[in-house]
Amino acid sequence: MKRFLHILSYVRNYMRYAFLNVVFNILSVIFSLFSLTMIAPFLNLLFLKQADEYATILAKGVPVLKLSVDSLIGNFNYYLSKVIMENGKLHALIFICVLVVSIIFLKNVFRYLGMFYMANARNGVVMDLRNAMYKKILALPLSYYSNERKGDLMSRMTTDVQEIEWSVMQSIEMVFRNPINIIILLGTMIYMSPALTLLVMILIPVPALLIGLVSSSLRRTSVKGKTRLGVLFSIIEETLGGLRIIKAFNAERFMDKKFVQENKFYTHTMIRMYRKVDLSSPLSEFLGAGVLMALVYLGGKMVLDNSLPAATFITYIAVFYQIIGPSKELTQAFYSIQRGLASAERIEKIVKAEESIKEVASPKGISTFEKEIEFKNVSFSYTRGDTGYVLKGINLKIGKGKVIALVGQSGSGKSTLADMLPRFYDPDKGEILIDGISLKDLKITSLRDLMGIVTQESILFNDTVENNIAFGISPISSGRGAGGEVEAAAKIANAHDFILQMPEKYQTNIGDRGSKLSGGQRQRIAIARAVLKNPPILILDEATSALDSESERLVQDALNNLMKSRTSVVIAHRLSTIQHADEIIVLQKGEIAERGTHNALLAKGGVYKKLYDMQVFV
Ligand code: ADP
Ligand code: MG
Repeated sequence: MKRFLHILSYVRNYMRYAFLNVVFNILSVIFSLFSLTMIAPFLNLLFLKQADEYATILAKGVPVLKLSVDSLIGNFNYYLSKVIMENGKLHALIFICVLVVSIIFLKNVFRYLGMFYMANARNGVVMDLRNAMYKKILALPLSYYSNERKGDLMSRMTTDVQEIEWSVMQSIEMVFRNPINIIILLGTMIYMSPALTLLVMILIPVPALLIGLVSSSLRRTSVKGKTRLGVLFSIIEETLGGLRIIKAFNAERFMDKKFVQENKFYTHTMIRMYRKVDLSSPLSEFLGAGVLMALVYLGGKMVLDNSLPAATFITYIAVFYQIIGPSKELTQAFYSIQRGLASAERIEKIVKAEESIKEVASPKGISTFEKEIEFKNVSFSYTRGDTGYVLKGINLKIGKGKVIALVGQSGSGKSTLADMLPRFYDPDKGEILIDGISLKDLKITSLRDLMGIVTQESILFNDTVENNIAFGISPISSGRGAGGEVEAAAKIANAHDFILQMPEKYQTNIGDRGSKLSGGQRQRIAIARAVLKNPPILILDEATSALDSESERLVQDALNNLMKSRTSVVIAHRLSTIQHADEIIVLQKGEIAERGTHNALLAKGGVYKKLYDMQVFV
């Protein structure tokens, strides 16, 4: 229920539309009751009454017009009698038909208007939900995604939001419309026979309980189904990303089997879910009929005892029968809400997920890097609270304008250490200071503004060369366009020449993740992006490791241009590229094993020398 209210809270922004929807729905209910209840007295008047009775009605004069059913019926009877007396019964028949058609027309106009405004509310809510989720996806720390399936997140953003749109929102409408219907009918029933209505009240909990049982099992199945769909999405997403490898390893059959299997699980779950959903209508109809028969039995007994007039009893049953329809719809709405709640639960898991990288209440802004970065006794583990520290007691100073190189075996913690600078992760112990201020006290955006990052896999987007270089700077002003800053950055990054050879130069689309470019070209675009950002601090995480020696030379050249007059943290696989670093830090299993300049470390003959010798002889 809390979750339902949470979703409802999104309706807040669309109150105006929700209100209009309710108003028009009430109007349509009133007109619908009106159209049905009016027919009986009219036909009565038309076929059963003697001519002198019409005269009697007319003789009473025009009844006072008030906002009450009696007054309205009185007025109708009066004018109808008048029509019959003056123009004959045929005329009156036409009059009635036209009247009922008009009422039904109005009823449907109001119903349409109700839906018309609901469309704004339901789609608006869904739009807001999607926006909230996307914002959250951008805000959540990287660590969140190590434990989530990408496909599952995608299915939450699409299918689950859709489910909310049409189950919960539809139900909200129904929940507002039908109770009004039911209350009016129930009121009539209490008025007619309190004793029988009491009986109804006693009997109702039995079907309600049964329906409740089925619906909570429906919700569990629905959650299972959604999770399965997430897995299915993940497989699709991984397949699209890994087609090259799948084909190269002849793994089509393997992947296909995996997909077919998952799809089968999903389908089975969905079949089970729909069977439960489909149960709602027959179940509630049968239970309604059961209650009705109990009524017929007890009410019939009262009639036989002469404690209830037969006519009242028949009318009562008729009214009760009318209540079954809306009650059935209400149970269906209840079922839909259960299904929607399963989605709401999944959506809420994202929207309410903890942002472990938080800013302090009043973060400090920082616009320049003046002195040094300091790691003070920093320890970190990916599995929080675990003893498996990836970094242990790191102490490190990076002075302004210096080049610090991190070397060590794969898995020794180099990338992890570099990731702590832009606060992708926070240390578990110790702290990191920049110009004497703890990173945690800084405004995250101003901290990240200071840094440029080039990683081994260049992360590019499906867009033009120009927009990839000017990424995050929008809209591109004319000064930034080709010929302006973008081109200047591309020149520094050794990218200008090959860009000019592309069909549409700076406006060429580079494909998904830059798939239309070679590895070296991708990397130089990524470097141009860092050049354009012009940050005082650079982090290069194996920026050349994935390249062949020819493009490595071009990229290294570009990197050297980029590093000029900046502070750099360089992680390099090939030690030859970092020989001139001001300090080389050798990491081993998360600890600093050695540190010093290239020559000093070689002279020492320790871990670094071993690593170096291995590369020289290869
Ligand atoms: P390097 O860059 O030196 O090769 P990393 O810093 O990437 O090493 O990784 C250090 C250790 O942390 C490795 O043992 C790796 O398995 C582990 N690790 C890296 N990323 C994650 C992650 N997202 N979740 C859990 N463990 C991780
Ligand atoms: Mg690494």
